[in-house]
Amino acid sequence: MTASSPPFSDEHEQLRQSIRGFIDRELAPHAQQWEQDCWFPDEVFPKLAAQGLLGLKYPQQYGGQGGDYLHEAVMCEEMARVGSGGTAAGIGAHINIATPPIWKFGTEEQKQRYLVPSIRGELIGALGITEPGAGSDVAAIATRAERVDGGWVINGEKTYITNGVRAHFIVTAVKTNDKSPPTRHHDISFLIVDRGEGVQSSKLDKLGWHASDTATISYQDVFVPEQNLLGELNEGFKLIMANFQWERLAMALGAVGAMSLAWERTAQFARERQAFGRPLSGHQAIRHKLADLATSVYTCRCVTHDALRRFVAGEDPLQEVTMAKLLTQRACFELMDDCLQIHGGAGYMREYFIERAARDARLGPIGGGSDEIMREILGRTLAL
Ligand SMILES: Cc1cc2nc3c(=O)[nH]c(=O)nc-3n(C[C@H](O)[C@H](O)[C@H](O)COP(=O)(O)OP(=O)(O)OC[C@H]3O[C@@H](n4cnc5c(N)ncnc54)[C@H](O)[C@@H]3O)c2cc1C
Repeated sequence: MTASSPPFSDEHEQLRQSIRGFIDRELAPHAQQWEQDCWFPDEVFPKLAAQGLLGLKYPQQYGGQGGDYLHEAVMCEEMARVGSGGTAAGIGAHINIATPPIWKFGTEEQKQRYLVPSIRGELIGALGITEPGAGSDVAAIATRAERVDGGWVINGEKTYITNGVRAHFIVTAVKTNDKSPPTRHHDISFLIVDRGEGVQSSKLDKLGWHASDTATISYQDVFVPEQNLLGELNEGFKLIMANFQWERLAMALGAVGAMSLAWERTAQFARERQAFGRPLSGHQAIRHKLADLATSVYTCRCVTHDALRRFVAGEDPLQEVTMAKLLTQRACFELMDDCLQIHGGAGYMREYFIERAARDARLGPIGGGSDEIMREILGRTLAL
């Protein structure tokens, strides 16, 4: 076992070894097949649940492990070892963006109905915010929920939704306030929408994350009962903001895990592959490149773990988390490109992990708040 370093303890390192073993045995051997199939089986969820991995940070009363965000952070880093960004994304969406709002804002009845079976891997969740006409500008969403007797009727369309085909329920952002002039930031609510009549998904084809089902979801006259309102009416922005820090930290941790793994494997490749009578790592240009990449992995880890430490300590590390997201997502993509280059022609081949890892890494600077949006947030925190 490697020695722990803050903010992690020996207990977290033990968890890391156990998660790593599970991934190596149960998930990684299937990664290539799942990527080719453009789908990973739903049975992965109950398998993870049986190991307690869908509820690391959730209280035991809901079937969770009663751990905290540090336990979940270990999981986020280790997921890169699945070797399929799409599988990691599907699992990550369930754990890191779909279920946390139910845990934080849900009624006891909602927790029993959605969180408990989600932790058991019996229900799969998705978070539906983005729309064809509104991504970074969340306030511009147009999906409407009209008040009717006993609940709401939703009409509209979400897009780029992870788990969008397989999800049993979609935590959906809707406009619920018709006041004129519009009350920006006080007109969005969240409804938990069960898959059923009027909810239709179509899977999207994409550059990377092939094993995940990214989908457009249309809602046509979908009735949602009153008891499925999540959090306060018209205050959905609070719910979005409450989980952004964790979502972005989870992405930064995922990038750190992916970068470490790619570096290890590329360094190994460079030690073994011969060119001009010596290993690639015997050529100064390659050796220096690998030294730079190791420095990048280390920098990203330090910045991310510092933001994580502050987050877990209960600070409000908006600036540190934003910097970690901004730094790691671009650095990860650039590192993957450099690692692919070191693999030469092999790096362009499907059978080599780096081909997939490079495509998978392209999403980081776009999803969960793009690089430009991170810079806008930093502009505000830096009083610019
Ligand atoms: C594979 C994948 C999975 C996803 N999963 C989910 C999911 O599960 N749930 C969900 O709700 N969403 C999901 N998304 C959506 C994702 O969060 C959005 O794609 C992202 O927020 C960007 O929104 P957009 O695509 O509409 O781009 P836009 O907002 O249209 O932006 C286009 C470009 O303009 C830039 N830009 C926008 N505003 C500004 C500004 N003010 N200043 C400077 N530049 C700006 C952006 O940075 C970007 O480069 C997913 C996306 C992908 C690709």
